[in-house]
Amino acid sequence: MYDTIIIGAGPAGMTAALYAARSNLKVALLERGIPGGQMNNTSDIENYPGYANISGPELAEKMFEPLENLGVEHLFGSVEKIEHQGAIKKVFTEDEVLETKTLIIATGAFHRHLGVPGEEELNSRGVSYCAVCDGAFFRDEDLLVVGGGDSAVEEAVFLTRFAKTVTIIHRRDELRAQKLLQERAFANEKIHFIWDSVVKEIKGDKRVSSVMVENVKTGEISEHEFGGVFIYVGLDPVSEFAKDLGITNEAGWIVTDNHMKTAISGIYAIGDVREKDLRQVTTAVGDGAVAGQEVYKYITENF
Ligand code: FAD
Ligand code: NAP
Repeated sequence: MYDTIIIGAGPAGMTAALYAARSNLKVALLERGIPGGQMNNTSDIENYPGYANISGPELAEKMFEPLENLGVEHLFGSVEKIEHQGAIKKVFTEDEVLETKTLIIATGAFHRHLGVPGEEELNSRGVSYCAVCDGAFFRDEDLLVVGGGDSAVEEAVFLTRFAKTVTIIHRRDELRAQKLLQERAFANEKIHFIWDSVVKEIKGDKRVSSVMVENVKTGEISEHEFGGVFIYVGLDPVSEFAKDLGITNEAGWIVTDNHMKTAISGIYAIGDVREKDLRQVTTAVGDGAVAGQEVYKYITENF
């Protein structure tokens, strides 16, 4: 029986583990991949206080390192179902059932797909959702980045390290990304823009060769040659396993109060998976600290 099981070892989950373990609780940190979460997919983090610039994987390592010495059990597994019977919560993975007094859901978010013809067929054959993972395979290519948010703009700038040109296609005529990132993109000679337009189809035989584009204002369709397409059109919550618990909103984000409490006593949610305005490493870490402290209070009062 654990005092708390934390599902997901992104920045939110790792911080919750740090706080809960420092309260001398028996803590399991359950992760289905490598610790770090989405930080593993970003090259440069420039807005985490204390570091002018640090790579995502390096920051992930720094957050994970101290946990073992604090006695946090790092378990490998993918959670498929959660049950709660009275005060005890059960966590079902592919091959075991774990019991815990409290549960912290920190499963984050996952890149959304466009849903256009060719996207799935050419996935990993020119279609990518991770510039840090795949960018170096596209040396001297003409690349397309889809989206107008922080991810699209930041990763487009990163891709100019390898690519001949990088074109950002956005469905409006104004970017959503932070102004600082926008300025970097506008100042980069390798970056071009296609405004007011959406991708209708990604074409290619063995690899991506071109993209069909529709101008949403004029309805005009045109074909453009690209060697790779990087898609950054937002995030969906990773909360499928929690859908029957009645703690999510219509879009699947988990609803909490300021103490990270969900509608179920003893179950908390933190980080990107939570319904919130700003999804960042700093806010994930803040949520984790609050939940790590809250589970201690809950256990003291209820067990
Ligand atoms: P995540 O980082 O998503 O971690 C969730 C973890 O849960 C994952 O490791 C996942 O494997 C695990 N998990 C999911 N489901 C299960 C399951 N069923 N069972 C077991 N484990 C599970 N933010 C910044 O502040 N600065 C930046 O520069 C920045 N750059 C970014 C660049 C990109 C390309 C992206 C995609 C995001 C960026 N962000 C940045 C956002 C930031 O990475 C996220 O806000 C942050 O990682 C959220 O942390 P989290 O712990 O809530 O979730
Ligand atoms: P996001 O902010 O939701 O932006 C998604 C972008 O994709 C928007 O520009 C949106 O257009 C566009 N889009 C959505 N659906 C589309 C579709 N079907 N077709 C075409 N375009 C579509 O997502 P994100 O950029 O991945 O960022 C996610 C979170 O991570 C944010 O909280 C962000 O701040 C954070 N993040 C932070 C940093 C950083 O701090 N440096 C870096 C990366 C990510 P509209 O603008 O028209 O809605």
